[in-house]
Amino acid sequence: MSKDIILETHDLKKYFKIKGGRVVKAVDGVSIQVERGKTLGLAGESGCGKSTLGRTLIRIYEPSGGAITLNGKDVSGKSTKRFRQELARSIQMIFQDPYACLNPRMTVSQIISEGWDLNRDIHMTPAEKKERVLGLLQTVGLNKEHANRFPHEFSGGQRQRIGIARALSMHPELIICDEPISALDVSIQAQVMNLLLNLQREQQLSYIFVAHDLSMVRYISDTVAVMYLGSIMEYASNGELYGHPQHPYTKALFSAIPVANPKTEKKRNRIQLEGEIPSPINAPKGCKFCTRCPYAKPVCHEKPPALKECAPGHLVACHLVNE
Ligand code: SF4
Repeated sequence: MSKDIILETHDLKKYFKIKGGRVVKAVDGVSIQVERGKTLGLAGESGCGKSTLGRTLIRIYEPSGGAITLNGKDVSGKSTKRFRQELARSIQMIFQDPYACLNPRMTVSQIISEGWDLNRDIHMTPAEKKERVLGLLQTVGLNKEHANRFPHEFSGGQRQRIGIARALSMHPELIICDEPISALDVSIQAQVMNLLLNLQREQQLSYIFVAHDLSMVRYISDTVAVMYLGSIMEYASNGELYGHPQHPYTKALFSAIPVANPKTEKKRNRIQLEGEIPSPINAPKGCKFCTRCPYAKPVCHEKPPALKECAPGHLVACHLVNE
């Protein structure tokens, strides 16, 4: 059976020009697919380009090259205000810092209904808006008394619930969750994750889940893409990637995940990566990971490895794996 793909990118690029004519290649030729009703996890260390990729998909940033297809329609052309309004009805985003992304001068009700006021295709009476806001608050586990309060009156977890209600207000098909739990207390993280999973089941939502916490990516994702310096290093189904990681970078990231069982945790062999991620202004010309890879060979410093299938549906960009 063929896959039902809601969003696809082909060779997507987002470059930023900086002083001195230099270029930061934040997203450098990324091709991904998101299946309808499923979750694609984007994993990697901070600065690997995963958040920029999410923001390019929702057109906070204009792509520098490549294509984005939503429901089979090319949406990568130059965006107008009208175009972004239409896109906002299909794709929404939940941000990392639930406080910074909520206007402190607006009530929860105003925050949730703002998208309706800005979109000229949405016509609702004040009574309809009120009813829908109360319904959304209930959906995310808040109640009607919260509607007229301001963001500072809520805890971090509650603010993230408001952010989720705002995203849901447009009835999106796809939500980009950009590190949605990393600013929250550990005790609250599981509640927000379970809320996202319940909403996905109930509303057939598709997610792109951006996180550096690989255990959270594993918990929620159907497919996972591991990114490094703006490129995909490995891409596979959740079970295949976590069961049979192939790329040296993925293996190093996985080796850093603590294990709940104390006996197994004692035996865990952590792969220490040397050095920092190189600057995306001056990425290595061969494999982008070659300056930190314990297995780098001369060819790795000269030629970028192609992202190739090493098992059905399992793609890896490594000369060692693909030779
Ligand atoms: Fe390491 Fe070479 Fe593979 Fe890159 S291509 S991950 S440097 S072995």
